[in-house]
Amino acid sequence: METQFQSLEDEIISGKDISVPDFLKAWLAKPKLNFVGNQLCESNSKKVYCNINPATEEDICWVVLSDKTDVAKSIQVARDAFNKGEWSQLSQRERAKIVKRLGELIIEHRAPLAILESLDTGKPIFESFEGDIPRSASNFQFFAEFAEDEEKLVFQNLQDEHTAFREPLGVVALITPWNLPLYLATWKIAPALMMGNSIVLKPSELTPLTACYFAELTQKAGLPSGVFNVVHGFGDKSAGEFLVSDPGIDAVSFTGETSTGRAIMRSAAVGPTRISFELGGKGATIIFEDADILEAVEETLKAGFRNQGQICLATPRIFIHKNIYSKFRNLFVEKANQIKVGNPLNYSTRMGSLIGREHWEKVMGYVCKVEEPMKILSGGDRPREIRKGAFLAPTIIENVPLDHPISREEIFGPVVSLYSFQNEGEVIKEVNDTQYGLSASIWTTDLDRAERVSRAVQSGLVWINCWFARDLRVPFGGQKRSGIGREGGKHSLDFFSDWKSVCVRRKK
Ligand code: NAD
Repeated sequence: METQFQSLEDEIISGKDISVPDFLKAWLAKPKLNFVGNQLCESNSKKVYCNINPATEEDICWVVLSDKTDVAKSIQVARDAFNKGEWSQLSQRERAKIVKRLGELIIEHRAPLAILESLDTGKPIFESFEGDIPRSASNFQFFAEFAEDEEKLVFQNLQDEHTAFREPLGVVALITPWNLPLYLATWKIAPALMMGNSIVLKPSELTPLTACYFAELTQKAGLPSGVFNVVHGFGDKSAGEFLVSDPGIDAVSFTGETSTGRAIMRSAAVGPTRISFELGGKGATIIFEDADILEAVEETLKAGFRNQGQICLATPRIFIHKNIYSKFRNLFVEKANQIKVGNPLNYSTRMGSLIGREHWEKVMGYVCKVEEPMKILSGGDRPREIRKGAFLAPTIIENVPLDHPISREEIFGPVVSLYSFQNEGEVIKEVNDTQYGLSASIWTTDLDRAERVSRAVQSGLVWINCWFARDLRVPFGGQKRSGIGREGGKHSLDFFSDWKSVCVRRKK
């Protein structure tokens, strides 16, 4: 489909270093404001913070820092819109038309959105243009179609008829992280809208741009004023905390670190408010000796280094059967060294920068802990040819003790450890020896073994001979300290709605 941004799309995929187009420069020159009741609003505090491009370390734009009164106002506006009923009282079929339109608008604006996402996060434009932004659009298409028809349950007995149907909750708070900004925000926005709620979104302070741009698209789509609102600011003792601790919020859907989940749970006790948490992970890949090694190497490289390893579903721990350890390791290291790390605004780049200097230092803190007998097989620092920015070459470490912080803690960067194992029982025990339980991949041609191991692994998601394959109807979420609740298909709709049951006594 030809879009108004066709020439920009052509430029992106041309493989040249692209520069930010003038119309986006002009957009970025204005401070990024809250979006409340279809209006851009400054903060009452008049405070702003500077948003930085992690790849160039240059300033991108100013962003408002919301205070408690700004957050309270956004909740009130959302509540008023909810009570007005222009959205909450529509049928799901009527809502689906606008929700689908949001998906179409994201596709039409794919090029500017992809550029903004790469500027903000440092991720390769290939990733944002081919992955994050189309997936954000499909979140709307999927939930619009999935929830288009009203769900109604009817139970009859001799005397009575019981019916049950969904109702919206009211005003929901969405708190999202920086690693997949628009992708994860829309994963919550789409079902929350389809269920008729009003929304206050607090995107990560590190990546506010696509939320700002998207807010303007909601106006174009015709979403009634006040149904979708965005407030900017930090988390702790800032906009995030003000939002989740406000008794005017009916539900909090949060994706982020496990430790933040703990803080939000305390804040949400004020309601008590319904919560859904998608938290941290320490995924594992298990490669048995009968695996297709070439395929396992290719997919595991993506699982380790895609999005600079900053994916909750990434696989920082790779367990390889001792008989194929050397073969797998050599090939894995060879291919990791071929990954093109560099300018995020070049379509051929496959790894960009981490989210920022602070996070780079945190990740490097782990790499600096490597000591005998541990060994860095590749990476371990910023690639030599890159002089600034939060870049880290794909880093592979072996001989890491299982009780070492590198094995146990969520690093959330392009750092992967290799472990050799002897048998199934041993590897299952080692994989499960973590507080997290989000995802695991198993590589084997023995499907009986694959099924047995997939049941034994303590993890919300298990892939067999693949990684990151998703069907949006499937329950998504973590076991143990990786989450509370599930997203996806019916699970998202359940979270963002309440069932009402009505009983009618029939005349005798
Ligand atoms: P984070 O927890 O630091 O921040 C996430 C969001 O929470 C931000 O918007 C932040 O401002 C806000 N926040 C922070 N403290 C808050 C508080 N006290 N009250 C309310 N809001 C608060 O996470 P991050 O660093 O942005 O993202 C990385 C983390 O997210 C990793 O742990 C990763 O595993 C996790 N993650 C999980 C999934 C999943 O599906 N399980 C997906 C993506 C990322």
